[in-house]
Amino acid sequence: MRFSQLLILALSLLLSCTSEKPQTRWYRGNTHAHTVICGHADSTPEAVTKYYHEHGYNFLILSEHNHFINPDSVKMPVPLRQDFILIPGEEVTGHKIVHSTAMNIDTLVDWTFEHEQVAKIIQNQVDGTRAASGQTILNHPNFEWAVTSEDILPVHDLYMFELFNGHPSVHNDGDENHISTEKMWDELLTKGMKIYGVSSDDAHDFKKIAPDESNPGRGWVMVRSQQLTPAAITEAMNHGEFYASNGVFLQKCESQNDFYTVEIDEAATMAELQLPDIFGKKVAKQDDGFFIELIGDNGKIITTIAGKSARFKLDESSSYFRVKAICRRAHKNGGSEEFYAWAQPVFTDERR
Ligand SMILES: [Zn+2]
Ligand SMILES: [Zn+2]
Repeated sequence: MRFSQLLILALSLLLSCTSEKPQTRWYRGNTHAHTVICGHADSTPEAVTKYYHEHGYNFLILSEHNHFINPDSVKMPVPLRQDFILIPGEEVTGHKIVHSTAMNIDTLVDWTFEHEQVAKIIQNQVDGTRAASGQTILNHPNFEWAVTSEDILPVHDLYMFELFNGHPSVHNDGDENHISTEKMWDELLTKGMKIYGVSSDDAHDFKKIAPDESNPGRGWVMVRSQQLTPAAITEAMNHGEFYASNGVFLQKCESQNDFYTVEIDEAATMAELQLPDIFGKKVAKQDDGFFIELIGDNGKIITTIAGKSARFKLDESSSYFRVKAICRRAHKNGGSEEFYAWAQPVFTDERR
């Protein structure tokens, strides 16, 4: 073999090695927003799209109640960023207050199914969404206390639910008689379900901004994908390639060779938390700063690290591990407020 042939062989080997690892990046999106079409939100599909386009999001679902907004019918902002898309969707709004986002559907999903069991209504929405080529996010389970973890557990082919929803009346944190959506998540994960936590706005009010309004910018997801297309983003989310946030950004969250590495993106987080209309969860006065929790079976906090990065060794002591990154600061009315990034669970059992 001549030297030039050797060189070509070496170069092609090098190229095949380097091209093995596909390039991914984080895409910011909101999976839940309303428009004037539903009759109780204040902005047109175009104005809602413009808001998210202007605020640096990469994708948006106009998830209207029992109404399919075809993205082709929406006039897009001009000039349009190349890294912004609409994903077709609907908020399937069914009996017994079972609501779900039908993500990346190609047609309207029926919502009229009635049954005395909530689980059957959820299953009907999941099946109808899959028949329309989409995937389901079960929405705001604690809204009107409509859906419990017992209702969710028997459902098949459901991989996402709203762990956090920015609407002021959905009770993410539960009350004295009802568990929080985060506790619900740990119950489902402990009982063997493979389900990922989504954070969304459920925005209705784009004109008046206040803590008790249903405003944009409250909850979003960061999706790790090679491509920004409706299919790629939906597929990535349905396989847990994302984290949920209401204020904290991550630079890294990945598990490799039994180690789980997390790094908080301090610059992006601080930039977000400087915004005037961002509201955290009010808690008792505690130390300010960044914290990273490792959580396992039954929602047990296994360890808490003070700081912006952590590396955890995963073993068989828990059937799943998940990480919650916290930014805590003083609240202007006393006490502290917290913002979070919720990374998706990593499984150590047959769900891996
Ligand atoms: Zn809803
Ligand atoms: Zn909604």
